[in-house]
Amino acid sequence: MTRPPDPSSASRRTRVFFALWPAPAIARRLHREGERAHATTGGRRMRRDTLHLTLAFIGDMPRERLEDLLACADKVDFAPFALVVDRIAAWRHNHIVWAGASVQPPELESLVSQLNAALADAGFPVERRKFSAHVTLLRNARGELPASDIDPPIEWSVRTFALIESDLAQDGAHYTVLKFWPAAGTTGH
Ligand code: ATP
Ligand code: MG
Repeated sequence: MTRPPDPSSASRRTRVFFALWPAPAIARRLHREGERAHATTGGRRMRRDTLHLTLAFIGDMPRERLEDLLACADKVDFAPFALVVDRIAAWRHNHIVWAGASVQPPELESLVSQLNAALADAGFPVERRKFSAHVTLLRNARGELPASDIDPPIEWSVRTFALIESDLAQDGAHYTVLKFWPAAGTTGH
């Protein structure tokens, strides 16, 4: 027999990650690149309003740890930067089509390493694999997609990072932005 989910127990845990969350105009362009690739590879297109670049994935944790997580992000000293998204490619091992930048801005590397250091200090799990900045556009993609240029490149002006809550659903993950952190000297816009 299946039991209905117990809302009180479900709400005690949360699945979270830090990400760069694009402004709608950038998300639109990324989404269009996904559409173009989809003609070649098929697969499931990520919804436009869910496109993001994961900085650090924490995963499932007790909700009561959220305050500690916010404190980690508060420690990060982050300068605004431009991310030039100029490449689209596929990973065979996980059937993902993604967009990325051929030049990794040092500010992005710094943001990720500061976040990981703060997370590790606070006892959160941190990714051991080398950070690989990418925006997932398609999942379950099949067939060959030679890496190619996005022309003209998508110029993403990064002025915030965000903590996102992920609710895994049948039709794909649903995300909620829990908090934005603006870059130094900006209001985040
Ligand atoms: P679904 O799992 O339903 O396909 P999703 O992967 O978008 O959806 P999550 O699994 O909650 O949703 O992941 C949120 C983000 O974190 C995604 O960008 C995902 O690629 C990334 N992510 C998930 N697991 C890991 C992991 N173990 N390490 C690094 N990044 C991860
Ligand atoms: Mg996932």
